[in-house]
Amino acid sequence: MANLRFEVVADAFNKKAVEVITPVERPSEFFGKNVFNRAKMYKYLPREVYEKLIDVIDNGARLDRSMADAVAKGMKQWADENGVTHYTHWFQPLTEGTAEKHDAFIEHDGKGGMIEEFSGKLLVQQEPDASSFPNGGIRNTFEARGYSAWDPTSPVFIIDDTLCIPTIFISYTGEALDYKAPLLRSLHAVNEAATAVCHYFYPEVKKVISNLGWEQEYFLVDEGLYSARPDLMLTGRTLMGHDSAKNQQMDDHYFGAIPERVQAFMKDLEIQALELGIPCKTRHNEVAPNQFELAPIFEEANIAIDHNMLLMSLMKKVARRHGFRVLLHEKPFAGVNGSGKHENWSLATDTGVLLHGPGKTPEDNLRFIVFIVETLMAVYKHNGLLKASIMSATNAHRLGGNEAPPAIVSSFLGRQLTEILDHIATSDKDELFDVAGKLGLKLDIPEIPELLIDNTDRNRTSPFAFTGNRFEFRAVGSEANCASAMIVLNTAVAEALQFFKQRVDVLIEKGEDKISAILEVVREDVKTCAPIHFEGNGYSEEWVEEAKRRGLDCETSCPKVFERYLDESAIRMFESQNVMTRKELEARNEVKWETYTKKIQIEARVFGDLSMNHIIPVCTHYQSRLAKNVQSMFDIFPHETAEKLTSRNKKIIEEIAERTQIIENGVEELVEARRVANRIEDEHLKAIAYHDTVAPKMEEIRYHIDKLELIVADELWTLPKYRELLFVR
Ligand code: ADP
Ligand code: MG
Repeated sequence: MANLRFEVVADAFNKKAVEVITPVERPSEFFGKNVFNRAKMYKYLPREVYEKLIDVIDNGARLDRSMADAVAKGMKQWADENGVTHYTHWFQPLTEGTAEKHDAFIEHDGKGGMIEEFSGKLLVQQEPDASSFPNGGIRNTFEARGYSAWDPTSPVFIIDDTLCIPTIFISYTGEALDYKAPLLRSLHAVNEAATAVCHYFYPEVKKVISNLGWEQEYFLVDEGLYSARPDLMLTGRTLMGHDSAKNQQMDDHYFGAIPERVQAFMKDLEIQALELGIPCKTRHNEVAPNQFELAPIFEEANIAIDHNMLLMSLMKKVARRHGFRVLLHEKPFAGVNGSGKHENWSLATDTGVLLHGPGKTPEDNLRFIVFIVETLMAVYKHNGLLKASIMSATNAHRLGGNEAPPAIVSSFLGRQLTEILDHIATSDKDELFDVAGKLGLKLDIPEIPELLIDNTDRNRTSPFAFTGNRFEFRAVGSEANCASAMIVLNTAVAEALQFFKQRVDVLIEKGEDKISAILEVVREDVKTCAPIHFEGNGYSEEWVEEAKRRGLDCETSCPKVFERYLDESAIRMFESQNVMTRKELEARNEVKWETYTKKIQIEARVFGDLSMNHIIPVCTHYQSRLAKNVQSMFDIFPHETAEKLTSRNKKIIEEIAERTQIIENGVEELVEARRVANRIEDEHLKAIAYHDTVAPKMEEIRYHIDKLELIVADELWTLPKYRELLFVR
């Protein structure tokens, strides 16, 4: 019996690194080569148009139609010079990933011929026939279609022969059907609220920017091996497979050299990413075998998010050129680390002040404390919602799932910051002014070292850790659109800052000194948000108990975690900050529940298929082989000797019989559980049923499959094993 598994393993071993030609120019020269960035705008647009466009980008000025025509003309010229023939509105629907519909530049010329055209109208707006994108019922078939609209703040870029235009995707009635539209609204909200608070300290500030530096983890698997694993192909993860005898115990992958084929892939990826203006900075092996990470330098959040989306699709493409498949799933393999996406987030002013970083003067440091504490207030108040923003069927494996740490959002601050906040919380206001003086500080506010040294020994178990001049949201899933978490975080911080300012202003109106008023409100908030602050081991069992006592959200069921979006406090927050309406939130939750159900449904189908068509036949085959052996022993030897010699095989035959029976029954129950769940109309309840009855069934059955893998002859096993998937490269 030919076994595909051995062919693909042998092939994989023989693969050599694909040669990557390094451009002759330096990276600084080819950086942004395929992007219509400011330098190109300057070159291809009339001076006046250029200046207006920059005003649109930097200050949110309105874009008029005549200008759009002029911009489109410049873009088209640049595109022509680069051999581009098509354009597309590139957007981020609620499914993960991006969507695009390519149109050629050609139009009828009215004389029976064709002309190549790209008008402002086409740049600004398009109606993709997108009725099949999930919309939670907002855009029913009678209504006009959704349309995409140009986001001038994220630059246009070229991929192959196509000009890609970043756009938002909204319904005819104005509801967001994507991630970018609410993201832009949330960035606007945090800008307004933070700028107003900045004015206490720096009256000249005009704008506050949200920074995002993401770190992308991923696995690479040889393409041949991948193609022999239907579960990887169809669900992105292995639904079964016994641990490799060796996995990550030695930590040798993390510190090891990057394997050659992988090195070539990374180099290729980085060159193409740099050409697309993605400022790739670091690459390294991750903890698990065949797991890697890539991180660029942080950028303004909207651009950083577009770049992450672009990078994820680029990775998939480049990986194939190198005979790999990239796995972005959060937990492709049981028993080894999963993949996340750390979101390093901070706020900064247009004047260059990093608001989450300490400064040189006591005033700077009070500003620092304010932004730290109000961020904590936001995270505290909406900790359940923040968790919902990063929850998905796939990330559930890292959030409260089987091998996962508890799904609780808390924040680690480090010793120094903890001491400062404790000091503020325990001193009374008058004391704060004096005591600070006695500690040898310049003014009345505690001094903070510019470098928060103890943040180098970070607490790796904290989902939302302060790391010196930013927060690092670590629980985000590797496959996720970063925008989901950024929308919630920025909106929640906007709300907290607004509430902060309201209270400070009341005190100032009553005649209190500004600094004293700020201190008073901050002190109150330090105490209020204390429950979110946790320095201990976030992976421990005790923490779950403690977090419950503190009233933090400890829910682990994915469909139930999504409910947080519809809490009155969440709706109020989104509506008051003009980020999303109740209707949008309700519709989006329908999409979330439906997506959850579909993912588990597909897994269950693939699981049933593999069990019945791979596992059971292979096991039965082996069982018959053993049975034949037993039979022949009795033919050759006297009964008593044969008894002795066959006892092991008979035990295995029995074990196979028992386990395959359990698997077969289990699969029947799995099908039945799906049938019952499918009859539920309500998407929310259906998702809960899938979570409670379908998903756990697969885990139960898997246990027996993995045991069988250990006893069945290796040569018969058809699915590439963990050791092959994880160590061949
Ligand atoms: P790690 O040690 O966690 O790998 P790095 O130093 O590699 O951290 O940085 C991770 C990401 O954080 C990078 O994208 C980096 O540019 C970004 N980053 C650094 N400072 C800030 C900041 N103030 N705000 C947002 N992101 C930042
Ligand atoms: Mg990090």
